[in-house]
Amino acid sequence: MGDSDYPTKRPTAAISDEAADYERPYPPEAKDIPWIDIHQHTGTLSWEHHEKMDASGAHAVVMIAASYFQVPYRPIQPDDWRFLWDEALRRAGEVSRNHFFDVHLATGIHFGARIEGTDDLLAVLPDYCELDEVVAIGETGIDPVQSVSAWPIEDQRDVLREQMHVADEQDLPVILHTPGNREGPGSVPAQFGRTFSHKFDYGGAPDADPAPTFDLPTAKRQAAEMDVAVADEAGLAHEQVVIDHGHPDIAEYVLEETGCYLSFSLVRKTEAVGPEDVAGVIEAYGSERVLVDSDLLAGLYADDAALTMRRMTLDLLRLGVDPGDVRNVVYENPKRILGL
Ligand SMILES: [Zn+2]
Repeated sequence: MGDSDYPTKRPTAAISDEAADYERPYPPEAKDIPWIDIHQHTGTLSWEHHEKMDASGAHAVVMIAASYFQVPYRPIQPDDWRFLWDEALRRAGEVSRNHFFDVHLATGIHFGARIEGTDDLLAVLPDYCELDEVVAIGETGIDPVQSVSAWPIEDQRDVLREQMHVADEQDLPVILHTPGNREGPGSVPAQFGRTFSHKFDYGGAPDADPAPTFDLPTAKRQAAEMDVAVADEAGLAHEQVVIDHGHPDIAEYVLEETGCYLSFSLVRKTEAVGPEDVAGVIEAYGSERVLVDSDLLAGLYADDAALTMRRMTLDLLRLGVDPGDVRNVVYENPKRILGL
């Protein structure tokens, strides 16, 4: 349309031929790609967060029932932890009923805070996993640092192996937390202010620093390798393992040396993964075993972090990632892994 044909008196964007002829490089239906977030701490979030998720294409979310940061500030007993599972179950129903997306649960033992006596929990974990609400075990995964007191790596391995046995028996995926890579104690702002000193103690001296078993700059890779070795011991298929809090540093390991999924937790400051990173990994390894999640948690992030999944969807499209690949990472892969 030429300038003279345009019926407005004032100039508009459409009066230049270039603007009038502009076509978006991706199909319009790309904007309707729904999303499933396999990792968020839904129980900490408010109505406002949930409303933003509704408004931005949320189809389903997985609420992590193992939010170790919600434990009492003292040595943790099995019943303290079971309270978290039960509270998550109650909350999941409440959010599901009042919003337009389904809230499912991941239940498990997180190594972020040492629990005294996990046998009681492992004994009832299979019963929880049989509930319709529970679609995954997690978040769990070997971690070199805990709140309250250190959890020896060997003991973590045993508890992880038991959870993986349950996952295998019940045909559920396992969502693995992996620690951030850090240059050294305190030199990188760690999540929740966690560094390699303890976040809180309970009046007594914290146990010895458990960090030395890890080489800090490669802690994420080391932990992921330990977790995968435990999955192999437990006979858990790699397709049921999601290595979460992903970073491009471990993409080659996860996607070429294992059959596990790699998920990027978008709001985590320790990984600081952006759309370019995710697009790069998709370009290098394909989208079949890559996904993104939010790890959204109230208080740590701005309220509009609830838009994270949609923002990543749009950013990947803007970067030229094929809409089919984008759909895989935000929707199809989570859906398949969770069996929804
Ligand atoms: Zn988390």
